[in-house]
Amino acid sequence: MSIKQSLQNLKDSLRTSDRMPVVFLGHGSPMNAIEDTEYSRSWTALGKTLPRPQAILVVSAHWMTRGSTLVDVSAFPRTIYDFYGFPDALYQESYPAPGHPDLAKEVASLLASHHVEGDDTWGLDHGAWTVLKFLYPEANVPVFQLSIDMTKDLPHHLEIGEALSELRNRGVLILGSGNIVHNLRAMRFGGRPYDWALEFDSIFAHSLEIGDHQLITDRKALGPLLQMAHPSVDHYLPALTIAGAADDKDQLTFMNDSIDIASVSMRSFIFH
Ligand code: ZN
Repeated sequence: MSIKQSLQNLKDSLRTSDRMPVVFLGHGSPMNAIEDTEYSRSWTALGKTLPRPQAILVVSAHWMTRGSTLVDVSAFPRTIYDFYGFPDALYQESYPAPGHPDLAKEVASLLASHHVEGDDTWGLDHGAWTVLKFLYPEANVPVFQLSIDMTKDLPHHLEIGEALSELRNRGVLILGSGNIVHNLRAMRFGGRPYDWALEFDSIFAHSLEIGDHQLITDRKALGPLLQMAHPSVDHYLPALTIAGAADDKDQLTFMNDSIDIASVSMRSFIFH
């Protein structure tokens, strides 16, 4: 199905629902923020399809914490330039959306049994703002991030999504940003995708299609394939949280289902 057709189907389904979709975007290179790429164009097209939320909660691969999960309660999250050696133009970008401290504190209470605490030192890292600037270019929807606790194993991140899912009935868009396959050590520009990258990507996609979260959170069963796809799981965890926030009434739409630089899956998905 073409991306245009997928987005039209998505738009039709959203028209009949009060419940917010949940979205996972493969973000790839920060350069997408300032270049006209197939990815940045797809994010603009998706943004035109999504309803206007009362707030956006972002789970980004780039806010890693250890031992607790933090939620940004600041009134004006700063734009964070958490990358090095990129052109000046990228550092001139900003995403000045307000935060939503009250809702962020509610999220901390909602997730109290998962050791979630408020924080006002983070802001919006590039996993968040490089895609948000295309989804909601006016930066007028309040946005705040939730960190990923790197000390917790895979099922925990799915459970966080399950706990967050009730926010969907309150006009909150839950957005995950990472990559379903992310191995920068193996990247090769212009190279054919590795077999292990294609295999992991398709296992993940199939698991979403059949609503089976067992395998994708089972480190042992995924074995060496997980090691290859994710030498570190930071870019994987947001995808699990978004999968956890879906339920069996949702429809699933994929976007950008291709592997970039041989070892980074740009596959994105929307449950709606
Ligand atoms: Zn990244």
